[in-house]
Amino acid sequence: MIAKILLLSLLLVCSTALAQEVVEPQHTPTEWSKPYPPFRIAGNLYYVGTYDLACYLVATPQGNILVNTGLAASAPLIKANIEALGFKFSDIKILLTTQAHYDHMGAMAAIKKQTGAQMMVNEKDSDVMEDGGRSDYALGGKAPTFEPLRADRLLRDGDTIKLGDIRMVMLHHPGHTKGSCSFLFKVKDDRRSYRVLLANMPTIVTEKAFSEIPEYPDIAKDYAYTLNAMKKLSFDIWLSSHASQFGLHRKHKPGENYNPSAFIDRKGYDAAINNLQNEFRKKAQGK
Ligand SMILES: [Zn+2]
Repeated sequence: MIAKILLLSLLLVCSTALAQEVVEPQHTPTEWSKPYPPFRIAGNLYYVGTYDLACYLVATPQGNILVNTGLAASAPLIKANIEALGFKFSDIKILLTTQAHYDHMGAMAAIKKQTGAQMMVNEKDSDVMEDGGRSDYALGGKAPTFEPLRADRLLRDGDTIKLGDIRMVMLHHPGHTKGSCSFLFKVKDDRRSYRVLLANMPTIVTEKAFSEIPEYPDIAKDYAYTLNAMKKLSFDIWLSSHASQFGLHRKHKPGENYNPSAFIDRKGYDAAINNLQNEFRKKAQGK
């Protein structure tokens, strides 16, 4: 009997372990994850991501905040980028994400294990983060697409994340995922301060009609809300989850001098939001 129970529990452990095996989508463009030299964007804000999967380090005397991680294989690149800037990887105290998709969460669990940092997530993305993306309405399925992890703190719209002299406000911008979000905060250098928006652009992921997504009945309402809310934001510098979305490679070339004004671009932001508004309208009208 005991042997039988042992065997049964062993089988159960094995099948749970199998179910947890991460299957990261393989079709991503190679450009997304190729290495990219890190640089200082403005004040104590740094770009530490890959060529297209944007990751940001916000440094304070009390430790650092890392936003987004790229794919699972991006972990060593991000670590090397952070160290190349002269920071200690172990000084990461807070981990944030703009959305619980594998291309921003891939290395999150590994980095949390290595640094012991606190994971803070928009409460609306916490379930999908805990199951590694399996319950995602568009990219979900049987296997996790990134290593699952649990939040240490759940964030709600307008919540502030504090570390050292940094105050970051989380803005709930749902649609792309149920808990997609942007971060608004101030950084300063010896000349001036900058209001920075790390914007999660509300691109449409699903090919289905909005009315055919029972897992996310409010999806159209959420996109409409997000587009409207994002138009009203005021900021000096805007950046996003993908480098291509804010034109990083037009605005900055590797090795260039510190130049925060390259990222002051209200026109580019408004144009990008308008494009997304049009995409949304077409989709909502079933075109
Ligand atoms: Zn995404």
